[in-house]
Amino acid sequence: MLDPFGRSIDYLRVSLTDRCNFRCVYCMPEEGFPATPKDEHLSADEFVRLVRIAAGLGITKVRLTGGEPLLRNDLPEIVQKIAAIDGISDLSCTTNGFLLEQRAQELKDAGLHRVNISLDTLRADRFTEIARRGSLDTVLSGIETALKVGLTPVKINCVAMEGRNADESADFARWTLHSPVHVRFIELMPIRWNLDEAPAMNEHLESGLLTLRRSNGSMLNSAEMRRSFVSSERLTQMIESEFGPLEPAELPTNGPARTFRIPGAKGTVGFISQISSDLCERCNRLRLTHDGFLRPCLMSDGELNLRDPLRSGSSDDAIRELFLHVVRHKPERHYLAEGQKVVGRGMSQIGG
Ligand code: SAM
Repeated sequence: MLDPFGRSIDYLRVSLTDRCNFRCVYCMPEEGFPATPKDEHLSADEFVRLVRIAAGLGITKVRLTGGEPLLRNDLPEIVQKIAAIDGISDLSCTTNGFLLEQRAQELKDAGLHRVNISLDTLRADRFTEIARRGSLDTVLSGIETALKVGLTPVKINCVAMEGRNADESADFARWTLHSPVHVRFIELMPIRWNLDEAPAMNEHLESGLLTLRRSNGSMLNSAEMRRSFVSSERLTQMIESEFGPLEPAELPTNGPARTFRIPGAKGTVGFISQISSDLCERCNRLRLTHDGFLRPCLMSDGELNLRDPLRSGSSDDAIRELFLHVVRHKPERHYLAEGQKVVGRGMSQIGG
C-alpha cells in the first residue's frame, strides 16, 4: 500500500486491550481510564481476520500492544494464528514486562518473534513513583526470561523525563555493556495531557473523511509534562560524557530508532526522536485499536470504525477498501508544532 505521499505502508500495530496493570504517570491517570466494555473489544478471531486482510494488502510487520497485551488470556492463540498468516515476517509485542516471566515461554512457543519491554528506571523507588504498580524486580526477571527463551532482540523502551529518570541514561547505557539488551530512549509525546488547552478539533483532519474522536477530561498537568521533556540530543551528551563517543550500530528490525553502541558493548542504545526530529517522512504504520478502529497516525485523532462493518457481515473486499481509505487519508506529518493536539484517546487506548 502506498499512501498519497509515496510512503509504503507495511506495518500494523494491533492494540489488544485498553486495560493496563500499570499506571505510568505520563500515560494513564491513577484511577485508570474508563475501560471499554468487553463486548466492544475485538475477539481473537476478529483481530486475526483483520490482520489477514491487512497482510493481503502488503502488511508484513505486526506488533501487538495495548494497554497491556499480556493481560489477555487468549494472547497465545492470537499470536499463533497471526504467526501463521502468509506474509507476516515480523511478529512482536510491546509489554510492561510484569507478566513476562510466567508467559514468555508460551508466547515463544506460540510463534512470537520478539518483545519490546517498557522500563523507565533501574531504581526500585523511582519505579514505584513512575509506574505506580508492579515492581522493578519482576520486570527485570521478565527481561531475563525473554532473553533466555529467545524472544530476541529484546528492546527496552525508556521514556526519558527531566527530573524523574533522565539522569539514569548513562546507567541504562552501562547495562548494554554486558547484556544484549537494546535500550531505546523515547521522547515524551504530548498525547492527551494537553487536553485542557486543546482547540475544538484538528482542522486539517476535518476534510479527511475520518471520524474525529473527541472526549472530555484531562489526565495530567500539561505544564509539568512539558517541563519533563528531554531531547535525544541531551541524552546522547550525558551518555557520551561518561563513555566517550558512541559508534553507529545496525540492528535488524530497527524501525525509526537511530542506534549506537558503546564500543565493545553487547547491546545498543537508540533514540526515537519523534518530537525533536520529524520521523513522519519514513512512517510506514497503521494502528488498529482494541475496539476495532483503524488510525493512520498516532498523533492525529482521525480513525475509521472497522468493528461495525466486521460485525455486520461485510466481505473481506469491503474491509480491504476501508484499509485503503485510511491509507489514502494518512496525514503527511503530525502538526504538533502548529498547535495540533491529540485529545481523543490516551496512549493506552490507541496502542503505544
Ligand atoms: N503496556 C505496554 C507497555 O508498557 O509497553 C504497551 C502499551 S504502552 C502504552 C506502549 C509504550 O508507550 C510504552 O513504552 C510507554 O512507555 C509508551 N508511552 C505511553 N505514553 C507515552 C507518552 N506520552 N510519550 C511517550 N511514550 C509513551
